[in-house]
Amino acid sequence: MKPRDLSDHVAYEAGRGIEEVARELGRDPSEFVKLASNENPHGPSPAAAVAIRETASSVSSYPKAAHADLTAAVAERWAVDDEQVWLANGGDGAIDYLHRAALEPDDTILVPDPGFAYYGMSARFHHGDVREYALEREADFEQTADTVLESYDGDRIVWVTSPHNPSGSTMALEEINRLADETDEETLVVVDEAYGEFADGESALSLTEGRNGFDARDDIAVLRTFSKAYGLAGVRLGYAVVPDAWADAYARVNTPFAASELACRAGLAAIGDDEHVERTVETSLESRKTMREEIDAHVWESEGNFVLVDVGDATAVAEEMQARGVIVRDCSSFGLPGCIRITCGTDDETGRAVETLNAVLDDLA
Ligand code: PMP
Repeated sequence: MKPRDLSDHVAYEAGRGIEEVARELGRDPSEFVKLASNENPHGPSPAAAVAIRETASSVSSYPKAAHADLTAAVAERWAVDDEQVWLANGGDGAIDYLHRAALEPDDTILVPDPGFAYYGMSARFHHGDVREYALEREADFEQTADTVLESYDGDRIVWVTSPHNPSGSTMALEEINRLADETDEETLVVVDEAYGEFADGESALSLTEGRNGFDARDDIAVLRTFSKAYGLAGVRLGYAVVPDAWADAYARVNTPFAASELACRAGLAAIGDDEHVERTVETSLESRKTMREEIDAHVWESEGNFVLVDVGDATAVAEEMQARGVIVRDCSSFGLPGCIRITCGTDDETGRAVETLNAVLDDLA
């Protein structure tokens, strides 16, 4: 017996870790910095690290209480009902739950191109088909309601990534509101705010909850993660905040105990540590500014904890940077050839990335 025919399903290409790269090149891991996966340069919140250690003795129990506590803390953070919070195994898990709850065979989702690959992978596993709207490089990946509506055709879920990975562009709340207005009643607009903490504007939850002058609405959901600003990518924790009418579906679609005891306890500690998030955001904004000012190539304006750089032969540049100890992301896997994405790091990491990239661009010219 073999697996079924999975040739239509592409594998997720995760950025490679330092250990893996060092082993392959026969070098010492200490020679490398990794700025390829938009992770937190300061690591996890110290409070979360303590919580993880303290949870060790209780991991023999199922995470029911921790799950409820974290759900309540997230709900309080956004002033929504507990039932609207769908905890999951990373933002990726929340993407799965939304597709499980939304998609019937042959329903479609509409996703940005270039964009985050997992939306499409997940939809295909949940009986859906994938359609794309173009974010134009020549228009600096500008996101308006019209950019999406040009390609919209009654799709069940419309994904908006704001800030967008890999470009860092955002969609203004007024535009998201108009997009939801112009799509059918059967369509849910999901705003993926995985990088929301690094952006200037308010969360799209302002729209759903009717804050900041908007009327409340029931056709937008928001996705968030603990992987970036909270520094917990390794524990796998994220969530969706869904409209009231979707609340009941969670119990029917989630994997039992959707987030682990370790993840929930770490998340609870992290969500109470504003100082760590503020420090992280400050470092990332500083790094973003330095990279935009000092890299000798076009760097797009970004609201995420990363920048997209137009380097020409991205594969050659990324490989050469890696050989010189700086691991960055070649964006060919996003359907965006010619560009690399560099994660915002500490001052030292940023300095090394800028210096290395400029030297590589010079040498390859
Ligand atoms: N959305 C976007 C746009 C992302 O870039 C990522 C992570 N790369 C995710 C969601 C999911 O992140 P996680 O599963 O680590 O929460």
